[in-house]
Amino acid sequence: HLDNPVSSDTGSKNKQDGVKLAKEMIGAALQKHVQAVDTDDCEPGDEDAFFVADLGDVYRQHLRWKKHLNRVIPHFAVKCNPDPMVIRLLAALGTGFDCASKSEIEQVLNAGVDPSRIIYAQPCKTKSYLRYTAKERVKQMTFDNSDELYKIKELFPDAELYLRIFTDDSQSLCRLSQKFGAHMDTAPELLVLAKKLDLNIAGVAFHVGSGASDPSAFLKAVTDARSIFDQAIALGFNPHTLDVGGGFVSETFDDMAGVLSAALDEHFPPSVRIIAEPGRYYTSSAFTIACNVIARRTVEDAALATKSYMLYLNDGVYGNFSSIMFDHQHPVPQILSTRRRPDGFNYSTDSLADSGYASAEESDGGSGPAKTVEYSIWGPTCDGIDCIAEKWLARETVDVGDWLYFEDMGAYTKCSATRFNGFTDRHETKYVCSEPGASALLGFAA
Ligand code: PLP
Repeated sequence: HLDNPVSSDTGSKNKQDGVKLAKEMIGAALQKHVQAVDTDDCEPGDEDAFFVADLGDVYRQHLRWKKHLNRVIPHFAVKCNPDPMVIRLLAALGTGFDCASKSEIEQVLNAGVDPSRIIYAQPCKTKSYLRYTAKERVKQMTFDNSDELYKIKELFPDAELYLRIFTDDSQSLCRLSQKFGAHMDTAPELLVLAKKLDLNIAGVAFHVGSGASDPSAFLKAVTDARSIFDQAIALGFNPHTLDVGGGFVSETFDDMAGVLSAALDEHFPPSVRIIAEPGRYYTSSAFTIACNVIARRTVEDAALATKSYMLYLNDGVYGNFSSIMFDHQHPVPQILSTRRRPDGFNYSTDSLADSGYASAEESDGGSGPAKTVEYSIWGPTCDGIDCIAEKWLARETVDVGDWLYFEDMGAYTKCSATRFNGFTDRHETKYVCSEPGASALLGFAA
């Protein structure tokens, strides 16, 4: 099921080379697709938004993980992006998987992953899913309340249980602790109940919030986890694993990893196995989306003598830009191709260097024509909330039929897309691979 695989036969000597090659490959895949679509003549849906995913980027993130957090075994949070090729690559790289539902578990098992590499990291589980995990022998799971313990006693008494504790996630992008996590004063009672029910406490879990930015949240969580470990040992359990959850962000990863590693080494001897549930860290930067401009409205203000445009794209907040609503993201538009110019393909191989993008406040200090054309960018549905960017300044005029692209669209995007207004929630993904190591694992031809 490879979609147009492109692979590198030149290889990348270091990260810079890999990123440069990735840009070239992504650009080539975008160009090939948009130039094959004639919006004046195509079939309905041929001009749909599409992704280009660089699996080499996922691979590089994995190598970086191993370099900075070698002690911690990543269990990719499937919810973040259940892309089949990402799962396949990570399975080949030997990671584990964090699953939240029966269908995620099924997807990972169907990719050939052993049940022992899966953690059902949902503290409040559906009973029928619990029966399913018992049947499939997916033994590792989290819990954070007494009702769940009774449920597990009834349906899967030999499960390996991780007590998920509360964290201070106030500095994170998406908070989770208002919904999950046993407080430090109730956790001991849960351990006592687990003992009474003759259940198996295998460890402790926490999550400092998705998109975490405060290293001290990790520090506090690690010391709290140590305290629960000690209480479990005192009750006669043999906890062997600490699950440090997700929350890792690529931009701050190296620093966070340093703080976390030091805390782990201080509080947990090497005999304790450490796992994590990273999601966005692995996939965010690997996915780029291209969207077609399906309509444009001119907004003239006679009093101010200004003219701006509203651009309507064929994807929006009810689709892959669901990350705006659910994940507090601000995707950055860039011009991909304009039909007005014969050399209209515009993909920039330097991140934002010469794109049309400027923030609302930015004055134009860079080279090239000034960013004087003002736009707002909207999705295709009939809902006014469906706005991708309220203000975007570009260097040139964007017209109906042109394409825009957005980078860093690989986390919490397509997984929460809907079919609202009848638009598709299944956008094509074209895969490229900028790392020969990943190509080899996936069987991509050089
Ligand atoms: N684990 C659990 C239990 C989660 O709820 C989430 C995200 O909501 C994750 C892992 C992944 O978090 P992130 O993408 O921030 O790494």
